[in-house]
Amino acid sequence: MTRITAEAQAVLWSDRAAGAPDGLRQAPLTSSRSADVCIVGGGFTGLWTALEIKQQNPAVSVVLLEATTCGAGASGRNGGWATGWFDELPELIEHFGVQQALWLAEESSQAVARIGQTAEEFGFDAHVRQSGALWTATSPSQLGSWDRAVEACARYGRPEMLELLTGDEVRRRTGSPLPLAAARHTDAASVHPYRLVQGLLKAVLSLGVEVYEATPMQGFTRGTPVTVQTPMAVVEAAQVVLATGVWAAALPELRRAIVPAASHVIATEPLAAKDLGEWADGSLFGDARLQVHYAQVTRDGRIVFGKGGGAVGAFGRVVPAHYWDEDSVRRVHADFVTHFPHLAGARITHSWGGAVDRAPHHMPFVGTVDGAGNIHYGVGYSGNGVAPSALIGRILGRRAVGVVDEYTACALVSGPPAYLPPDPIRYVGGRMVQAGIGRAEAAEAAGRRPDPISALLRRLLWTTTPRWAEPRLLRRKNRAHGG
Ligand SMILES: Cc1cc2nc3c(=O)[nH]c(=O)nc-3n(C[C@H](O)[C@H](O)[C@H](O)COP(=O)(O)OP(=O)(O)OC[C@H]3O[C@@H](n4cnc5c(N)ncnc54)[C@H](O)[C@@H]3O)c2cc1C
Repeated sequence: MTRITAEAQAVLWSDRAAGAPDGLRQAPLTSSRSADVCIVGGGFTGLWTALEIKQQNPAVSVVLLEATTCGAGASGRNGGWATGWFDELPELIEHFGVQQALWLAEESSQAVARIGQTAEEFGFDAHVRQSGALWTATSPSQLGSWDRAVEACARYGRPEMLELLTGDEVRRRTGSPLPLAAARHTDAASVHPYRLVQGLLKAVLSLGVEVYEATPMQGFTRGTPVTVQTPMAVVEAAQVVLATGVWAAALPELRRAIVPAASHVIATEPLAAKDLGEWADGSLFGDARLQVHYAQVTRDGRIVFGKGGGAVGAFGRVVPAHYWDEDSVRRVHADFVTHFPHLAGARITHSWGGAVDRAPHHMPFVGTVDGAGNIHYGVGYSGNGVAPSALIGRILGRRAVGVVDEYTACALVSGPPAYLPPDPIRYVGGRMVQAGIGRAEAAEAAGRRPDPISALLRRLLWTTTPRWAEPRLLRRKNRAHGG
């Protein structure tokens, strides 16, 4: 069987030797400036926010600061699954009520479509293929994972958003012997994430956004304007948008609202058409595990295969093991071979990882730092941010220019909806829960019942502490009462 060595340690999407486009490199910020809006972070969230601001009002001046290079975070390292939230409709209804849930589901679906529309408008090619996503059951325990979502879509007039497929059909399409059945997200698209980052960057530059790379925000001083400190200069801005993804966990306000969790990915060499079958049309392939497997066939015929639910970062930190971890990559490869035994000999040319900003409810949220009206953030995608970041960017962009409408008033503009237990409990507990989920799902894949401890640990994944018990909120409440 193929061995994965450290030489294969690279992100496929940004590897020029594998056909990635040249990055549009931007100089660092060397002299201080002022702007109407300063965006911190050059991933999807920051770039969609910049685009929205310019589309709302071209006269608004925008400076975007990126610590390293645009797309160096999750936006340039993901699986390229652009999916909406119709599969989450029951959960959306539970959290936000029917009307908001339906609005959010529609908007998330339109966010998928907006990727292709934006690429067309600004003349870039992000390899967008709107061929749907196969949400498969690969063990009996996963069968019916989609029943509530299918029922909700039918009840609320959108039955076509999830299409049921038999196991025979999915096995024939993908060549994998595992799927027992699937629900197909009909609106999903596969994308080349780094090309999308670069395309959005090109778009915002063309609209006059100033982008500075290798310019980390080192801190900020609250007030009007807000002063954002960087190594060589400061930016003064009336409004600041923190689009720092998982690094937002460094903010005391958000430290317990999200947790960095690793996801690891491998990519094969380009494969022959006969090995890929119909799947080469760009449809996405994933399963219904909590430690989800996700895959796509790239336009040049590689399979990109990843697995979520990896190691958590203590105290909200992103650690080197999030980016590459030999054991995790080996496990992903072993799972790839289980899914596609006929491709066991395929050469693995790339392997990488990244940190996901997991939030307790698995939904992104928007808020302002410490209740200040002019420092906004949007975070918590929980591994599903490729398309939703277009919606969150729209919300953030409109908030930054003072628009009041259904976007800026939607249910996601709530601040953290729940908090995780404090560290080190969260870190230690998180590791135990991840291990428990891994054992439970492996047992189910082998047709066994999970042992009771692993089953219990899996249920603890959803543990949160009540919002009212968050120490920062308590302190703020006390301050408001003169305490
Ligand atoms: C391995 C992996 C696979 C994934 N697969 C999928 C998928 O298939 N489908 C899906 O929908 N989602 C997926 N996701 C999640 C998705 O990629 C993210 O939700 C999305 O990219 C988040 O975008 P962002 O802009 O908020 O964050 P990021 O892309 O992480 O951008 C944040 C940026 O902020 C910068 N930054 C941080 N701190 C500072 C600072 N102090 N100063 C200046 N800049 C700073 C970082 O360098 C970074 O570029 C995956 C994530 C990972 C890691």
